[in-house]
Amino acid sequence: NADTAMYRAKESGRNNYQFYVPSMNDRVRERLSLEAKLRQALTNEEFALHYQPKIDLASGMVVGVEALLRWQPADGDAISPASFIPLAEETGLIVPIGEWVLDTACAHNKLLQQSGLPPIGVAVNISARQFDPHALRKSISQALDASGLDAKYLELELTESLVMENPDEVTRILHELREMGLRLAIDDFGTGYSNLSQLQRFPVDRLKIDQSFVRDIGADPNDAIIARAVISLGHSLGMSVIAEGVSNEEQLAFLRANGCDEMQGFLYSRPLPFEDLMGLLTENRILA
Ligand code: C2E
Ligand code: MG
Ligand code: MG
Ligand code: MG
Repeated sequence: NADTAMYRAKESGRNNYQFYVPSMNDRVRERLSLEAKLRQALTNEEFALHYQPKIDLASGMVVGVEALLRWQPADGDAISPASFIPLAEETGLIVPIGEWVLDTACAHNKLLQQSGLPPIGVAVNISARQFDPHALRKSISQALDASGLDAKYLELELTESLVMENPDEVTRILHELREMGLRLAIDDFGTGYSNLSQLQRFPVDRLKIDQSFVRDIGADPNDAIIARAVISLGHSLGMSVIAEGVSNEEQLAFLRANGCDEMQGFLYSRPLPFEDLMGLLTENRILA
């Protein structure tokens, strides 16, 4: 408690005020103000989901989308998830935000199906703090029930570091989620430290090659080697493999030549607002 701390500081007889340098003060204040805004964001309806298409490399067709969270505060610039998800995790706000993401992604996907488009899957990112088995199962069931979406169209993306942190417990939870009918993917694969014997035990449908390896496929021979190794590792474990962050033709050609199953990236499309996704799917543009 702050008063006690201050009291002790005085008591200790030293000038502890020197620690409260202005720059730190500013940072603390900035964080507190961001946190207060984040608390308001749900009620103020400042969040949106954007959707990035996933393309099947054999057919060139869109076979799924990934939901990516966007925050547009009423009084400022759009804030990237990379900068507010960590804060949402620390404060626990990721739980209600994550429920909103699940509800919205399922409802949108059901709308796509109801509009007569061929059914595709939607993937939602789940971070560590949301990975409480009981609460997660409950929010997934609620999102599926409320939307009427069949569970097989919902995929969860869990990062490699999350699943490897506590692999025994995770294996059990993944089995439960699988029994609900969901699909599971390991995101950002290659950036963490995988225990390969554990990986084999995870009931996972898909590996996502991290974009850091995809980015330099043409420039860095080591990245090309890693990308190729992840594709063959995934396939030998019976998983399909998707590359993320595909932004040029050279990367695409490499992934095709090496048997990668799917890709997503700016080359085909950036993440799009829901209305624009509808337009793109209606257009039915095939990746050449
Ligand atoms: P991620 O799940 O690995 O998502 C991929 C990120 O790469 C997205 O960034 C996407 O916009 C970006 N990306 C896609 N294609 C390209 C490309 O060709 N080039 C480049 N440079 N980037 C590309 P975004 O949307 O900023 O999201 C960042 C991270 O935030 C996500 O990484 C995910 O870990 C997290 N995140 C996003 N939405 C949610 C959410 O609803 N819940 C949770 N828990 N985390 C989320
Ligand atoms: Mg992801
Ligand atoms: Mg990723
Ligand atoms: Mg990432």
